[in-house]
Amino acid sequence: MGPHANQRHRPSLAVIGTGIAGLSAAYLLKDKFQVTLFESQARAGMGAQNVDYVSNGITRRIDIPLRIFCHGYYDNLLALYKHIGVEILTSDHSGIFSDETGRVILHYGNFRKGTARFSYPKGSNWLSPTAWTIGLQSKRFFVRAKRDMGRIDLTELSFGEYLQQSGAGREFVGTVLLPMMSVTCTCDYQAVRDYPADLMLEYLTCGVHELGIMSAAKGVDDIVPRMLVDVALRTNSPIALIEPEGEQLRVVTKAGAARHFDQVVIASQAHQAAAMLPGFDDRRALLGRIPFERSSMSVHTDQEILPAPVKGLSPVSYHIPRDASRAEVSVDLTKAIARLSGQETIFQTWNPMRRIAPNRELARVDFTRPTVTRDSRKAVIALRESQSRPGNRLWLCGSYMAEKIPLLEAAVDSSVTVAEHLGAAIPWKADAPAAA
Ligand SMILES: Cc1cc2nc3c(=O)[nH]c(=O)nc-3n(C[C@H](O)[C@H](O)[C@H](O)COP(=O)(O)OP(=O)(O)OC[C@H]3O[C@@H](n4cnc5c(N)ncnc54)[C@H](O)[C@@H]3O)c2cc1C
Repeated sequence: MGPHANQRHRPSLAVIGTGIAGLSAAYLLKDKFQVTLFESQARAGMGAQNVDYVSNGITRRIDIPLRIFCHGYYDNLLALYKHIGVEILTSDHSGIFSDETGRVILHYGNFRKGTARFSYPKGSNWLSPTAWTIGLQSKRFFVRAKRDMGRIDLTELSFGEYLQQSGAGREFVGTVLLPMMSVTCTCDYQAVRDYPADLMLEYLTCGVHELGIMSAAKGVDDIVPRMLVDVALRTNSPIALIEPEGEQLRVVTKAGAARHFDQVVIASQAHQAAAMLPGFDDRRALLGRIPFERSSMSVHTDQEILPAPVKGLSPVSYHIPRDASRAEVSVDLTKAIARLSGQETIFQTWNPMRRIAPNRELARVDFTRPTVTRDSRKAVIALRESQSRPGNRLWLCGSYMAEKIPLLEAAVDSSVTVAEHLGAAIPWKADAPAAA
């Protein structure tokens, strides 16, 4: 008898949203349920914005956005990728930081020794007192952060308060730390400061700097099909409403088509989930406490965004105008991503503040992204409690639902939690039954 011979007897489950949270939830739950995935866009969400880039006679698919990860923080993501056979490569994300005039403030590269990575000042930066000051302040910050992680209760402090109390160096914070975390969390500097201190420090001290950055070798288009196994995918199907009906939940698309399911997992962002739940007042109120920020990203070949010509530029360029509320950050994809290395230079610029020549732009995409505050964290804890009550049929997952920075790891962490509640074995956890 095949593994799915009892398919008709499995209860039905709708998963709404096909970002990595929805895809991984569907993948983990497919053996227990008959899964239908609903996605509002024309393609599964993780790869919905991707574009083709043709240069030097080569066509390559470009992920928008490029997603990177590292050891030490992304345990569930790395275990999932290993389980479904995603190939992973290291990726150089060393950077150059310049001000509004194009003056280079800091330029560093990375080198590898064994499994560890080290940073060193590049080019004329060897001689810059500011670069040495920043280097020293950075060292002090990380030593203290690692010590504080185990010793003091950071949950009651915002990251901004922590920076102040710990005496973190002004040049390091303004030039490096806030710009880096504003692009990592794709939000304003103020939102970075508002994060709970422990969440920021957990990420910053996980080894991301020592162990290096990685990305999926073949991009998202290789990842998505690996999770779309034994599930029905309905694209162009935005869900407008979810409401209880008898023992089931009624799921209604914007076009008015209705279907009933035994269980529903909403894997959209929090504000999108709230809009689908007019009849669930408590959960809607909690979801309304999850803040989010908007930003955009341009994929282009306009080299004008680089700082004044510097030899051997590092792949990531931070443009940090005084008084700006967030950085503008460009990644040279041909330097950061091995599979693009034979092509002409192409950039992803997050938060473009300067003009990008329209004839050099391949795509411009708008995103929303949750952030975390001490209050939103309490709302998430209450949401998690509400869905662990017996008889619950409506589940929320997504990067905002884990006690982490809303990155890929948080999204997979949240789908693992939901799958465990629904009785699925997590293949990479010790107590999971061995594969047949
Ligand atoms: C610019 C940028 C760069 C990033 N870089 C990184 C990185 O390098 N590393 C990293 O770890 N993370 C990165 N992230 C964060 C990461 O992309 C997110 O954490 C992750 O995509 C969240 O996944 P998710 O499944 O929770 O939500 P989403 O990816 O937002 O997926 C939600 C899905 O639900 C769908 N949906 C919404 N409403 C409905 C509806 N009504 N009906 C049906 N479908 C609906 C949406 O179309 C979407 O496909 C980045 C984010 C941004 C914006």
